[in-house]
Amino acid sequence: MSFSERYSRQILFPPIGQDGQEQLAKTRIALVGCGATGSALASLLSRAGIAYLRLIDRDYVEPSNLQRQVLFDEADAAESLPKAIAAARKIASFNSEITVEPHAEDLTPDNVEDLLADVDIILDGTDNFETRYLINDYAVREKLPWIYAAGVASYAVTMTILPGETACLACIFPDSPRGLVDTCDTSGILNSAVNFVASVAATEAMKLAVGARDKLRRTLLSYDVWTNDYASVKTDKPRPDCRCCQQRDFTHLAGEGRPHISMCGRNSVQIHERQRPIDFADMSKRLAPHGTVKHTEFLLKFWHDPYEMTLFPDGRAIIKGTTDTAIARSLYARYVGS
Ligand SMILES: [Zn+2]
Repeated sequence: MSFSERYSRQILFPPIGQDGQEQLAKTRIALVGCGATGSALASLLSRAGIAYLRLIDRDYVEPSNLQRQVLFDEADAAESLPKAIAAARKIASFNSEITVEPHAEDLTPDNVEDLLADVDIILDGTDNFETRYLINDYAVREKLPWIYAAGVASYAVTMTILPGETACLACIFPDSPRGLVDTCDTSGILNSAVNFVASVAATEAMKLAVGARDKLRRTLLSYDVWTNDYASVKTDKPRPDCRCCQQRDFTHLAGEGRPHISMCGRNSVQIHERQRPIDFADMSKRLAPHGTVKHTEFLLKFWHDPYEMTLFPDGRAIIKGTTDTAIARSLYARYVGS
């Protein structure tokens, strides 16, 4: 398939044209989080013909994701494929000419320098402010543009952050609007709200890629697709006393206040271990007497009624069936190690 044929409808759009399309084909993007917003962003931008997409996601596909996470299908959920891996496979089926690099990992202060290095734009497909503040600290320090995007219920909110020019995330939200609670799932979300915010954010990324900086939106945009409420708050100037972009105090990069264990969705807890490489075959043998065990090359699942533990190769775990971090910690210590 020729380049000019594949992208003909975008090249016909004058603000992109042949030159813009060639710029897109040089653009490298890191996308943090590949759930609902992330799937839609990844789909739009990989179809649009960016050069390279690094996908970072800590979670695996479940049936409840299929209502809105456009890159996944029933087979991915049946296999509990890590979202980053499932997304990379799906993208390869519709655009095999771009490079997609999947990382089934949690973005943390320990790996942020590796996982966000060497890209032109960072996109937000996460569902929590802890990770967003980490991205914001890194992007401001490195002077990299990034785009905040979030959807909850029928409500979408997004902001394009141009370090050294506009306000940063910490200028607008000095503290997390909902507290620094980690969530893997949001309770209640319309797929149309997610696709709305992803469309706006993906277009901003395309403008950045083709150099149309005068067309970038310098506001915090919020829109409710159900009630039609709309708000647009100016973000064209940093807040003079901003901790991040003015005082250059990058506390989130330093990893301060980061818990080892956190709530993760409505009924699960995540253990943020990264230094405990796990041999799935060995671990399966050890766990077999205590419950049902299944593993793939990407993850191991262990059912010990009423709990379900998912283990990743670096030792990270998601424990379902409890919101009690003490129970999760003791299950992990008993079956994986302390
Ligand atoms: Zn700031």
